[in-house]
Amino acid sequence: MIQGLSVGILIRGGTIVLKDTITVGEVLVDEGKVVRVGKSIESGYSKVVNASGKLVLPGAVDPHVHGREPGLLHKDNFANTTKAAALGGVTTVLEMPNTLPPVDSPERLVEKRELLSSRSFVDFGLYAVLYDYPGDAEKRIRELLEVGAIGFKAFLAQTTGNLPPPSFRSLYVALKLSGELGFPVVFHAEDRGCVEYFTELARGRGLEGLAAYNEARPPLCEELSIEYVASIARATGGRAYIAHLSSSTAFTIVKRYRGSSAKIYVETTPTYLFFDYEEHSHFGPLLKVNPPIRSSSNRRELWAALRSGLVDVVGSDHAPHAPHEKQGSIWEAAAGIPGVQHVLSLMVHAALEGLIDVGKVVELCSENPAKVFGLYPRKGSLLPGADADIVIVDPSKEYVVREEDLAYVHKLTPVIGMRLRGKVEKVLLRGELVVDDGELVADRPLGTFLSRRW
Ligand SMILES: [Zn+2]
Repeated sequence: MIQGLSVGILIRGGTIVLKDTITVGEVLVDEGKVVRVGKSIESGYSKVVNASGKLVLPGAVDPHVHGREPGLLHKDNFANTTKAAALGGVTTVLEMPNTLPPVDSPERLVEKRELLSSRSFVDFGLYAVLYDYPGDAEKRIRELLEVGAIGFKAFLAQTTGNLPPPSFRSLYVALKLSGELGFPVVFHAEDRGCVEYFTELARGRGLEGLAAYNEARPPLCEELSIEYVASIARATGGRAYIAHLSSSTAFTIVKRYRGSSAKIYVETTPTYLFFDYEEHSHFGPLLKVNPPIRSSSNRRELWAALRSGLVDVVGSDHAPHAPHEKQGSIWEAAAGIPGVQHVLSLMVHAALEGLIDVGKVVELCSENPAKVFGLYPRKGSLLPGADADIVIVDPSKEYVVREEDLAYVHKLTPVIGMRLRGKVEKVLLRGELVVDDGELVADRPLGTFLSRRW
């Protein structure tokens, strides 16, 4: 194990990938920060990392992680979640608020912050939940921002933890404030009434499986919900972030609101990009997620939308469950799969397969999420002064994802058995080597809490 790499590291000869530029050169790191990126920086460093033939990327920022701690330890825990993140080149995770208890008060946010600070192997930010705060919603939101909330999450449909959706009043107040202060409000955008009606129909017909689950929560439910959110964002000048968009038809709505006073950000996940209910029906409840995985033609359209710039962020929606919760009928099984360990790897694989530019991967997985959540350029960049969160990938290595390589407590993911190109070899977190040769070498949780600049 190599420790104490925080002074004068020179990463030499790698292919440095940024959103708009790909250059062969050196990255100089000192005291946990990027000092300089350039060609042939002079010698004399305590440590030189030879990266020739390798890709050098800024660490990924995964804005959609359900680490399950506190309160849901039978599903997973934050140490394992963030070990998985580190192994996958995700150096920042933004943790969702639907733990037990949910993060709905400044006291609870501070408690969770303290707890996870002693557990986290990567840097992390915390969401607060947005639901119907009776009384003064604005006061509550401001208090939560004051103690460091990175953003707010509103669950507009049924979800893990059964959190109630926000009232119109709370939603309006939150979006208005988001425009004024610059934080995003993240939406699980599916219309409740729509989901209830179509679920009743599909179950009533005795249907089963992933195709049936798609029928029970059709794209219409997403479209209605996005229209609702986007129109309030337009009226208030708010910043609405649509989490895990799955339906390609929803982009017609997104397009209509882009360029208005609303800021509409779109996130999708590798689950919708790599899986569909036709080719992957054999997975059954294992692949149950909300919104559901869609058709193969929808999957192709989602890639096209991503290439054309309609998607801002690729996040994992990492949402592990225990084996007994993922069994049985599609209607009873829990929705969600773990994904933080391979979100970046899947996108790098896609780039090496020629599906997208590798610079686009950096934009979607590092730069844009850092920007949306107020962490840029400290995170998501290799600019001088940025945290030296750096991922070195060997593009010539092909590997098959094995169960024993996963850091999750429950290894229930459809990526097992997939052959991927481009292996994460080394990961630096603020200049400390936390992954070497694809193995975790950090001997303690080095992650720190991040709050947004606002
Ligand atoms: Zn989620």
